[in-house]
Amino acid sequence: MTINDITRQLVRQRAKYLCEYCHSSEKASATRFTLDHIIPQSLGGSDESDNLALACQRCNERRYNFTVATDPQTQAIVPLFNPRQQQWSEHFIWTADALNILGQTPIGRATCDRLDLNDERYDEDDSIRTARQLWVQGGWHPPIEDPRHR
Ligand SMILES: [Zn+2]
Repeated sequence: MTINDITRQLVRQRAKYLCEYCHSSEKASATRFTLDHIIPQSLGGSDESDNLALACQRCNERRYNFTVATDPQTQAIVPLFNPRQQQWSEHFIWTADALNILGQTPIGRATCDRLDLNDERYDEDDSIRTARQLWVQGGWHPPIEDPRHR
């Protein structure tokens, strides 16, 4: 990777220090978030900021080099959420308790599933939902501009 510090900082600021997929806060993480290539490098994606998104380690690992996924509701193959071209709030909503992200569209549902945004493949005690519960108790989750079920 040849992404320079200026680009790296631009991407982090543009994302408001949130993972652009699961909206976890980089500031609450012990390690800095990674830069995700929206079009993967393996498919010719560039290091330009237009092709980069801030992503926590778990989202970056789960996205890997996938660009499409299956909408669990319709079984249609659809593109993954693209934070450069789409609005998070149009595709996702938090549950009332702010522990789970719900896909609102085929893209939202497929992305929730592919990236396992709610860690449903693991035991509840060791999941992102446990961390979110602490963040809610701390009063700084979910991000204030995010839609949330009432
Ligand atoms: Zn994430």
